[in-house]
Amino acid sequence: MSIQLLPDVLIAQIAAGEVVERPASVVKELVENALDAGAGSVHISVKGGGRTLIRISDDGHGIMAEQVELAFARHATSKINTIDDLQRIMTLGFRGEALSSIASVSRTTITTRHREQQTGTQLRIEGGVVAHQQAIGAPAGTMITVENLFYNTPARLKFLKTENTEKRHITALITRYAMAYPHVRFTLEQEGREAIRTTGSGELSDVIVQVLGLDNFKHLLPVEAENSGPPAVAVHGYTGSAQLHRADRGQITLFVNGRWISDSKLLYAVVQAYQGILRDGRYPVAVLMVEISPDEVDVNVHPTKAEVRFRDANAVFKTIQRGVRSAIIASGQRPDIARSSEVRHANDWGQSSGWREPTRGVSQPEIGLQVQDDGRLPQPYINRNTYSEEEVAVPDGVGQPVRPRTLPPLRVVGQVAATYIIAEGPAGLYLIDQHAAHQRVLYEQLVDADFNMSALPTPQTVELTPTQARLIDAQMDVLNDNGCEIAPFGGHTFQVRAVPEMALTADPHDLLRAIAEDMRQRPPLEAVRLCISGYGAVKAGQTLSQDDMQAIVRRLERAREPLKDPLDRPTLLHMTGDQLARQFGR
Ligand code: ADP
Ligand code: MG
Repeated sequence: MSIQLLPDVLIAQIAAGEVVERPASVVKELVENALDAGAGSVHISVKGGGRTLIRISDDGHGIMAEQVELAFARHATSKINTIDDLQRIMTLGFRGEALSSIASVSRTTITTRHREQQTGTQLRIEGGVVAHQQAIGAPAGTMITVENLFYNTPARLKFLKTENTEKRHITALITRYAMAYPHVRFTLEQEGREAIRTTGSGELSDVIVQVLGLDNFKHLLPVEAENSGPPAVAVHGYTGSAQLHRADRGQITLFVNGRWISDSKLLYAVVQAYQGILRDGRYPVAVLMVEISPDEVDVNVHPTKAEVRFRDANAVFKTIQRGVRSAIIASGQRPDIARSSEVRHANDWGQSSGWREPTRGVSQPEIGLQVQDDGRLPQPYINRNTYSEEEVAVPDGVGQPVRPRTLPPLRVVGQVAATYIIAEGPAGLYLIDQHAAHQRVLYEQLVDADFNMSALPTPQTVELTPTQARLIDAQMDVLNDNGCEIAPFGGHTFQVRAVPEMALTADPHDLLRAIAEDMRQRPPLEAVRLCISGYGAVKAGQTLSQDDMQAIVRRLERAREPLKDPLDRPTLLHMTGDQLARQFGR
């Protein structure tokens, strides 16, 4: 064969092999374009694992009518101009390859209208060849539909994994972008079912609750670290507690300046921080955002832009490792081999969709929130998370380690029926049973021996029945360990001299009798703790001040098991914005 220049379409198809490896890569490129266009809301809809259809619509700035066709030309980009621009890339795209590659291996339709133009444009490209173009009415923004992906590249088609595998990759991808861009509202629909929905509130904690569920929130520790430099490096995000581990590194997600990267060295920084905490062969779960001046990173290493080179990789490595390590230490995890039972994460990122239908009989309601756009403009990527300010204000004792957060921050709005606390937080409304919540908090204080013993103003003598007296007499040690000083007072009578401070307002007669009665049905230690926490907790029907309520909620946010009272009944109900909207027919 003689030497000849390849036709453009063939060149694009060859390049496509690098940029679009699988349906998830198409989704990634199109989502990145939407984010680069300043979208505040990105909707993704997928059919047939992405082979049949991928549709992404955004409310970004759109493309000018006269430039739409150009956007599909190879090496056409609006994002860089000169070689110097490569030094300070702030956008996710810059190579001008994605649209041409995607269009060369599928049937692609774009409908777009630039914000400053009245009329939109629709362009259809089949296998890289323009088939149709017309002016069309459209909302500002862009919608791209990719159908029959790889229909003209059978070799690629053959290597595609099953539909379910591709679906999983796409869900995992959107989960990650939703976490990296909490200001952006993401919805993902797979086969017509909503798989992910975030609110775009700007809080990473919101997204975590929305995509991973309230139940998993407690296993994630906030990370915040900075290297003052040079080079200045900032890291924030979440990393899993020792109870949350996996057989591979697939659940460690790293973003650099809003770009998802895979870098084995940086992944290792996270893994290493768990040395002595996770046993060999187990890997943590983490989502970390690294911010660094763009001229410290070279993002132009590979067509997928998933690899980067740092001028000072060590500084980044150390900041990540230090941040993760301090998060673990601050949570009170000891660096020795954890025997911890493995937590079955019902909702592995990408294993199943983050969206679950509310399940009957499960006390914890499920998450997923839709809040209508409040007209907020999209903000540049990377939020700061919400913890810094009130991490400081821990009520109990200075110098004590801060207990890890197990619920996102909730703001008390008011009280209903003098029984329930209404609070607002990530993904909606929280209705908290004040007694159950307070009892949970006090119960854990007893378990942790984190309480003061208080003498009664005057010792009280309590007369019991013979059976009650026998039970109490046999359990003096247990009572004492839990802050009760009680002495036999002749016959079936006992003298109560001191109780834990939390139970000071309770009537000692009632308390002691309740404990004795309870011991008939459960182990003595349980009975003692249940009764003390139950009598110490605020009652249903008790009017509480705003401060009292907020204090209970603050402590609940750091309880080990915040969702249940000591008898396994729910402490709170969560109503998602989505559920509210549905109820109101919005
Ligand atoms: P790159 O993102 O590297 O510039 P692409 O091929 O992905 O290359 O996109 C080409 C150009 O098309 C972009 O530079 C941008 O100007 C425009 N474009 C693509 N997608 C969108 C979108 N969703 N909204 C607005 N403009 C877009
Ligand atoms: Mg792009």
